[in-house]
Amino acid sequence: MALERTFSIIKPDATTRNLTGKINAKFEEAGLRIVAQKRIQMTKAQAGKFYEVHAERPFYDELCEFMASAPVVVQVLEGEGAIAKNREVMGATNPADAAPGTIRAEFAQSVGENSVHGSDAPETAAIEIAYFFSGLELVG
Ligand code: ADP
Repeated sequence: MALERTFSIIKPDATTRNLTGKINAKFEEAGLRIVAQKRIQMTKAQAGKFYEVHAERPFYDELCEFMASAPVVVQVLEGEGAIAKNREVMGATNPADAAPGTIRAEFAQSVGENSVHGSDAPETAAIEIAYFFSGLELVG
């Protein structure tokens, strides 16, 4: 399997409950290396651009409000098959469906406030990394 990079966000429900360290421990235990990381506060417009693909979904406005409601930690994770591995460690979107031991099973509060974002494919990972990080900030 190839060495990959994926984009991750620790969402406001998790940063406000001081779960950044516990979530990062899950990534590191799974063999994902945090090669870039910063804590930022997004505007609703910035969150809206990030989640543009969901613009027609009924939860879009609520999602953008939530993502701008408190700081988030944006990250680049690197590892063998990092995109799929991260999705596995995150668990299903709805915490009620998330496998035991996953981040969402342990920490998420609802289908919307579900603690983490992770890219779903190489193309989206590249776009999402470039939205938040310059090449100089990626330190493998
Ligand atoms: P994932 O984050 O698992 O890739 P999606 O791409 O389907 O999931 O959705 C993006 C985000 O939108 C979710 O992580 C969640 O925060 C929010 N979301 C998805 N479905 C709902 C819903 N039914 N109600 C409220 N928020 C939702």
